[in-house]
Amino acid sequence: MKTIFRSFFYLFILFHFSIAQDTDSTIIRSFFSQALSDDFALENLKFFAKETKGRLPASSQALKAIHFVQNIFEKMKLDSVYLQEVMVPDWRPGDAEYAAIHSKKLGEKKLNICPLGYAVGTGKNGITGRVVEIHHFDQLHDMGETLIQDRIVFFNRSMDRSVLNTMAAYSMAANQRVYGAIEASKLKAKGVIVRSLTTRLDDFPHTGVLRYKEDIKKIPAIAVSTNDAEILSSWLKEDPELSCKIITRCTTFPDKQSYNVIGEIKGNEYPDEIIVVGAHLDAWFNTEGAHDDAAGCVHVMEVVRLFKSLGINPKRTIRAVLFIDEEIMQTGARKYAEMVKLNEEKQLAAIESDRGGFAPKGFTIDASEEIFTKIVALQKYFIPYDIFKFVKGHSGVDIDPLKEFNVPLIGFLPECQRYFDYHHSENDTFGQVNFRELQMGSAAIASLVYLIDQYGL
Ligand SMILES: [Zn+2]
Repeated sequence: MKTIFRSFFYLFILFHFSIAQDTDSTIIRSFFSQALSDDFALENLKFFAKETKGRLPASSQALKAIHFVQNIFEKMKLDSVYLQEVMVPDWRPGDAEYAAIHSKKLGEKKLNICPLGYAVGTGKNGITGRVVEIHHFDQLHDMGETLIQDRIVFFNRSMDRSVLNTMAAYSMAANQRVYGAIEASKLKAKGVIVRSLTTRLDDFPHTGVLRYKEDIKKIPAIAVSTNDAEILSSWLKEDPELSCKIITRCTTFPDKQSYNVIGEIKGNEYPDEIIVVGAHLDAWFNTEGAHDDAAGCVHVMEVVRLFKSLGINPKRTIRAVLFIDEEIMQTGARKYAEMVKLNEEKQLAAIESDRGGFAPKGFTIDASEEIFTKIVALQKYFIPYDIFKFVKGHSGVDIDPLKEFNVPLIGFLPECQRYFDYHHSENDTFGQVNFRELQMGSAAIASLVYLIDQYGL
């Protein structure tokens, strides 16, 4: 008798469990159906790309994007919508940039260039100097001051095209852009030219942030397109005496006030447990920033819209955060983390989308072993959508400071082969984003938020 009772009991539990799983699968299906059949996301993406192009953190375009999102959140009737004040760097690229190489043997050639982000300008008359091609910092240090002084250092290490993960290839080459000016200046170089970080050969210069050190002279730095990097390199082989003239007019003004935009749907059971979903609003001066990171902003806005339009009341609080100043100093990210600390908030998880609007492959997870296992267990819900990859890895720059408070961090992981065709360049336009791929991403993130909300972590 006891055995029969026990069997019924297990059947009952199993029945309930499978009903819950069916309900979850149905809700997840509705996220995807709704995301794929509504143009709201596309209109928002278009607004960011076309109406707020070049939205540097302190620019009027960024402010326009901020108020645009605030307005949409208010129209969605989220439970709270607010702006968090952030002081951001006001670096501006200036109104002209020019670089050309001059060789007595080969003639003259203008280069496709742009300043690196946060770089100093050259002054009105520009800088002129002989060029030294460098592939690794070791090579630079070996040459020493006698060979580098008064030269323009040309960092020409390409992104390794044999590496499958383009993000990894980017990380392997990015130090020359970020720290090249410091290393070259230590040896008294005049300026720096960096090969654009893209796997393609084309004419677009790709910018990105550089760093200086307080006690080391700040020297001008530009990015050159990969095609022109190849030409410069081949000219140098034929004429090592050639010179380069560079003019940039970048200026850094005093910091300005800007904002993170925050919108919340309050949880009805555990309102103090917060699930954060974030992306960054700012973009570089030379781009619509459609993939980086208007697509991420659209993902975040879609998550709250999908919950609202499907009438799903979460148990926990879902907080959408559009961060400012990811690209230069990450002041928005730090300000947000300060608020979390000050209010002793419980962030159950934080998810960031900052790898473009391509078809979703999965998520990268930066959390304890126990939580990693719990998140991986949710993978089964994503299989019908060809989303399989739940792996350990870096989440995102804006949510990274939350690691200090042991918040489980998750990065949205889309297909990565094309990202660096666009990244930080004029080529990152609205037309390069595929609507269905973008919305598969929105639905995937909404589904993960839903599952974490249902089952906790
Ligand atoms: Zn980004």
